[in-house]
Amino acid sequence: MSYLQNVLSQVEAKYSYQPEFLQAVREVFESLAPVITKNEKLYEQEAILERITEPDRQIQFRVPWVDDTGKIRVNTGYRVQFNNAIGPYKGGLRLHPSVNLSVIKFLGFEQVFKNSLTGLPMGGGKGGSDFDPKGKSDREVMAFCQSFMTELYKYIGADEDVPAGDIGTGAREIGYLYGQYKRITGLYEGVLTGKGLSYGGSLVRTQATGYGLLYLVDELLKNHQSGIEGKTVTISGAGNVAIYAAEKAGQLGGKVVTLSDSTGWIYDKDGIDLDLVKEIKEVRRGRISEYKDAKPSADYHEGRGVWSIPTDIALPCATQNELLIDDAKELVKNGVKAVCEGANMPTTIEATKYLQENGVLFVPGKASNAGGVATSGLEMSQNSERLSWTFDEVDAKLKGIMTGIYANIDSAAKEYGMAGNYVAGANIAGFSKVVNAMIAQGAY
Ligand code: NDP
Repeated sequence: MSYLQNVLSQVEAKYSYQPEFLQAVREVFESLAPVITKNEKLYEQEAILERITEPDRQIQFRVPWVDDTGKIRVNTGYRVQFNNAIGPYKGGLRLHPSVNLSVIKFLGFEQVFKNSLTGLPMGGGKGGSDFDPKGKSDREVMAFCQSFMTELYKYIGADEDVPAGDIGTGAREIGYLYGQYKRITGLYEGVLTGKGLSYGGSLVRTQATGYGLLYLVDELLKNHQSGIEGKTVTISGAGNVAIYAAEKAGQLGGKVVTLSDSTGWIYDKDGIDLDLVKEIKEVRRGRISEYKDAKPSADYHEGRGVWSIPTDIALPCATQNELLIDDAKELVKNGVKAVCEGANMPTTIEATKYLQENGVLFVPGKASNAGGVATSGLEMSQNSERLSWTFDEVDAKLKGIMTGIYANIDSAAKEYGMAGNYVAGANIAGFSKVVNAMIAQGAY
């Protein structure tokens, strides 16, 4: 049995109860095979695969908070500090009922490679809780965030571990978390990113993941004698990533015709009215079904279905495992040219393979959605300098980073004889930098 297969079997046996984490490890290992084979003796000696699949530490804690009726409620909080070989741990906090240790470990593991790809000095981590902010009052969300940070503050710091937003953690939650950190520690430092502009946040951070995704799509298509102008774009989700992906797609001349949330999806053949979506989602915190109330000419369907609409560019921007094999078949049948992930691991391994085998340009989230964390890295730099850069400065840097990521994953794939396989390219490019740093820093 090869070194890689041996470690994979060990991880599978040890963490058989963590399906999302195992899915991420299998996907990464599969595409790393050529690199591991080339350096097998060294990596085995250094236990690189054993070390890279085991987090530096994982912290789990109780989060008690008082609801509006005066009752004490209890959630579970997590922070997984995966790897800090190339910089302080960095990764978001997810607040969603589906959160468990397996989900946080999968996200933290992927984050290590994604952060490496940005070229910025950031290690990988992730955290969150099974708390659901949906349907809670602002006071309840504040009570939860204060309790969560009362435990978390012990393990984070501007040079140690810098959390950020993710599903369910937006500007409101980051504000409450930051306030509590400052209150307990007395420190005014860049310990969280995604902060409000008046207290250390960066311009473009709100738009960064969605905009960055489209900068990468643009670069990808340009390198394949095409472009976004005049193309139909289908997007899932209606949160932070989906909304700003739709905005930039429109600015680059594409026509976005779908969006969704966990209840249903909309199809507007005339192109989605984004001002209306922002009003529903960002102001009212409502459901995507309300779009049809304001625009009766659009279609609304309950459940899933975005990927049944014929499109040139498909951008899954909601959550993990939302683009399945049957969706991939439907997309290919309808002539899709490119699928680029805005969410983390939205495409199953089976669906990814089907798309690649059928000539679809496929870019995994760890490369295509890295604009968010890259801009968080830029927020950290501004906090350290105690300066604020202009929108155009940050946007130009973001564009440069996304263009660089495309060049990196493209050349890594070519170097190992897998031209056009951006899954392999992203894993190889992200992995190599982290491994070199781990070896240089010795056994720990
Ligand atoms: P938001 O919470 O702002 O939006 C998430 C969207 O996805 C909502 O429309 C939500 O619908 C939908 N959704 C969430 N869970 C499910 C589910 N189980 N089934 C169907 N729909 C679901 O999150 P973001 O936009 O920030 O994040 C989206 C994805 O992008 C995640 O995978 C995240 O990890 C990833 N990502 C985010 C970054 C960022 O900067 N925000 C950076 C890099 C990656 P509903 O409101 O009904 O729950």
